[in-house]
Amino acid sequence: MSRVLVTGGSGYLGTQLIAALLLAGREVRTTVRSTAREAEVRAAVRRGGADDAGLQVVAADLMSDDGWPAAVAGCAEVHHVASPIPAVQPDDPDELIVPAREGTLRVLRAARAAGVRRTVLTSSFAAVGYTPKPGAEFTEDDWTDPDTPGLAPYPRSKAIAERAAWDLMERPGGGTELVVVNPTGIFGPTLTATLGSSMQLVKAMLDGAMPVAPRARFGVVDVRDVVDLHLRAMAAPEAAGRRFLAVADGPTLSFVELAAVLRERLGPLAARVPAEEAPGAPLPRPVIHNDRARTELGWRPRDVATTLVDSATSLRDLGLLED
Ligand code: NAP
Repeated sequence: MSRVLVTGGSGYLGTQLIAALLLAGREVRTTVRSTAREAEVRAAVRRGGADDAGLQVVAADLMSDDGWPAAVAGCAEVHHVASPIPAVQPDDPDELIVPAREGTLRVLRAARAAGVRRTVLTSSFAAVGYTPKPGAEFTEDDWTDPDTPGLAPYPRSKAIAERAAWDLMERPGGGTELVVVNPTGIFGPTLTATLGSSMQLVKAMLDGAMPVAPRARFGVVDVRDVVDLHLRAMAAPEAAGRRFLAVADGPTLSFVELAAVLRERLGPLAARVPAEEAPGAPLPRPVIHNDRARTELGWRPRDVATTLVDSATSLRDLGLLED
């Protein structure tokens, strides 16, 4: 079987995806912005139980054409995971929109030119359900309007990047199929000690750095289940041209509800999680459907409590929690 490319190999999802591919016996190439992070990537995939001998690490930045044709060369499959996802939103939305959109186009153009069989793009629920809707019920038929008033730069960047990907696929000069995975908030064990934005939230809750829970409700999905969905999206012939929401079963949860799960399941480790929610109007409870991934791809996500407990214990086991 030919080599598979994973972009964003230094990240939370990227390291878990590489580990899973290596464990499945695949040869993997990954892109990082700087090869200074190569040792960290290798250590992370080993932490995931994989042998990193089958891993090649190459440099490519979403902001530059350099390196992409060489990165896809000889790969029949591409998982495009890389995209900026900062903990704090920048003042200039283009700091996120330009790398997200241009980077996606660079990867897809290189994949099309190289005759890659299929590209699976990590988009986000942020590209699906961030435009308010009566009833707040969302499926893959929904799209976030990037011009929604007050929309933060990150969801704008994901909506614009995913739209640009589908638009490119409409143009002649094909050569790769596109499948899109749209995860809600990703939690679950981290293989890397450089924490992405979602795991920083879990750490803040456990460290007591979030004494009052922000007023927000969202869907949760386990990073291992997002990996599984990426693999299913790559394998299933009928997935071509489809997008798939990745969210655990059950209702969307607020920070204070997540904190309650942690307190109930973890006892002393969760002693500092917030018990109080910031004041404000009642929160809508969005309903996010995962039926397409379940019925068309046989995807079966873990329950949210398992994901949250495993997030917390992985932070503890890596020594990343305050005493
Ligand atoms: P992460 O840990 O921050 O990883 C992001 C990755 O993107 C890193 O490898 C980063 O590389 C890379 N990247 C950022 N800017 C880049 C650039 N200009 N050029 C090349 N690479 C660049 O975040 P994550 O949670 O794993 O996110 C992975 C994907 O999932 C993203 O597409 C994100 O939008 C999507 N997603 C995440 C969540 C979530 O809750 N975490 C939810 C839905 C969708 P460096 O190491 O060089 O920074």
